[in-house]
Parts: sequence; C-alpha cells; structure tokens
Amino acid sequence: MYYGEIKKVDIANGPGTRVSLFVSGCRRHCKDCFNAETWDFSFGEPFTAQTEQEILRLLAPGYIHGLTVLGGEPFELENQPAVLALLKKVRAAYPHKTIWCFTGNVLEEDILAEGGCGRCAVTDDLLRQIDVLVDGPFVAEQRNVSLRFRGSENQRIIDMKTTLRAGSAVLWEET
Ligand code: SF4
Repeated sequence: MYYGEIKKVDIANGPGTRVSLFVSGCRRHCKDCFNAETWDFSFGEPFTAQTEQEILRLLAPGYIHGLTVLGGEPFELENQPAVLALLKKVRAAYPHKTIWCFTGNVLEEDILAEGGCGRCAVTDDLLRQIDVLVDGPFVAEQRNVSLRFRGSENQRIIDMKTTLRAGSAVLWEET
C-alpha cells in the first residue's frame, strides 16, 4: 500500500483532534473528487513498518482522540490487508481511542454483499476494528458544504459497532 499524507493534527475528519492517514488508490473516480491525485495506487510513499510506528507514536498524546483513515479508498482490496494490520495495532495500543474510516463504497451493497467490490477475506475483520464508517461516493449534485464530516447528502456516518450487532446500518450520534 502507498499513502499520500499523514495529518498529525486533524480536526476536520471526525470528532476531536485526530491523526489522519490518506491511503492511495481509488477506482471510483467520483466527479469533483476532493482528492483525485490519490486515485493512483502508487501515489506518495510506500506504507512501511516505520510508517506504522510513526502513526502509533503520533497517536500517543492524550489530546489525540483517535485515528481516521481515508484516501483514496481504504476499502480497495489491495489496501485492506495493510489497513487491517494497522488498525489492529492501534486497537491494541490505544483501546480507548476511536477509529474512523471513510469509504466511497456503500456498506450494504459494496462491502457486506457477497461479490461486492469492497469485499474480500479480511473485510469482516476490518469492519470490526472500525468505530465509525463514513460511507458512500461523493455525489457532486448532492454536495452540501454545511454537512459535518461528509461532502454530499447521500453519504452516511455509520456507528459500526452498533451496526454489526443490529445487523443493519445504525447512524452515529455524537455523545
Ligand atoms: S471515493 Fe473518495 S477518493 Fe475515490 S473518487 Fe470518490 S471522493 Fe475521490
């Protein structure tokens, strides 16, 4: 996997102050994508064991609420194993920090359904590591700049833990 950027202090992609990882590679090619340079799977730098260690180090301060993974597309099948390995390490090191992930896939159609473009052998494990999944492609015609943590009306902020228990999508609510 490659990544384009690590934001050390990000207040735009989830609640509180977060570390954000922008992975490379996305085949969806939404019109007016905010981050089209990351469509290329080899954009940026290789994601290595040192990159993982750097993210774990950046997450250590008490004022960092958690990690957000976005892109590009974290659920591209090439990216899922490396994202999963990272999230497991984050979970083990910081069980009380939250993990958010953004995907252009629709949870039920592309990730949970057999044969979906975002589904492979590690997907269920990956979903179990994520607290909140912001799903759905960016749809330029539904763009709304007043939305928090998402760009277009069709996108959802999903509470993954509750969703996996309930068996259908439950939206996240800030507590
Ligand atoms: S899914 Fe995200 S990164 Fe991919 S084209 Fe759409 S907005 Fe851009």
